[in-house]
Amino acid sequence: MHAVGVDIGGTKIAAGVVDEDGELLESTIRPTSAQEPELIEEAVADAVAELRQRYVIGAVGVAAAGFVDPGRCIVRFAPNIAWREHPLGEILAQRLGLPVVVENDANAAGWAEFRFGAAQEVADMAMLTVGTGLGGAIVVDGQLLRGAAGAGGEVGHMRVVPNGRACGCGHDGCWETYASGTALVRETKAALTIEPERAERLLAIAGKAKKVTGPHVTQAAQEGDPLSIQMLADLGRWLGAGMAALSAVLDPAVYVIGGGVGAAGDLLLGPAREELDAQLFARGHRELPEIRLATLGNDAGIVGAADLARLPR
Ligand SMILES: [Zn+2]
Repeated sequence: MHAVGVDIGGTKIAAGVVDEDGELLESTIRPTSAQEPELIEEAVADAVAELRQRYVIGAVGVAAAGFVDPGRCIVRFAPNIAWREHPLGEILAQRLGLPVVVENDANAAGWAEFRFGAAQEVADMAMLTVGTGLGGAIVVDGQLLRGAAGAGGEVGHMRVVPNGRACGCGHDGCWETYASGTALVRETKAALTIEPERAERLLAIAGKAKKVTGPHVTQAAQEGDPLSIQMLADLGRWLGAGMAALSAVLDPAVYVIGGGVGAAGDLLLGPAREELDAQLFARGHRELPEIRLATLGNDAGIVGAADLARLPR
């Protein structure tokens, strides 16, 4: 059965037809505005209708940022869109005349990597998506972990530093305030004011300190910029430290790292690996978890949502 996966982002909606092998057969995009939530449903319906002109579709899966109820229908809270206890799945199902499931976007991407991507041969994995925040998806014994309230797998809000940096969630010391693209850029800018002489390459690429982005840091590091190499290594060590904590609870065989920072490769993964190994519980009596880069890129949300839509309720 073909299913449509829909990825609702901050500025656009991407929808695609996915077959049972996880192949994305065709996709389409609609612009959207978080300020007008009712137009989002309109745009999703329009995109699905376009794809249905050429494919027989059996189900629709929708990936969105936020908490989704365990019944995979209601968006309980979305950080960027004014959805509160919003029955998105039901509204779309009525509109489309198809079964619709809704899933947290990081969960959908992680599921895609588990089924068809970087971790397809293991039963236990965790995906960490390093972006604005730190998204998490956890698969235990072949099952996506959602938790009792639908808020499971939100690893970015594990507290790693008591009384640490303030987090957008209202608490402090959350993992994502240390291990995210946002943290990388913020810390790099701070370091630049102290040691600009160690970042000549970075400053040449970015133009000026306040214009630095994550991809600038990665490019400069790959070209040997000492400060950029150090900042990526710091990010890697924060990732590794959190992974070690997760391993004590979940013991995944594989960690999949997603997000643009993966382009840094071993400049990021090397320090992450070292820190994970150094802090891993029972290290002498076990296989070490592997760290791999995600393979499905920006399509992961679409592919994962579509595949989850095919699973029995
Ligand atoms: Zn937090």
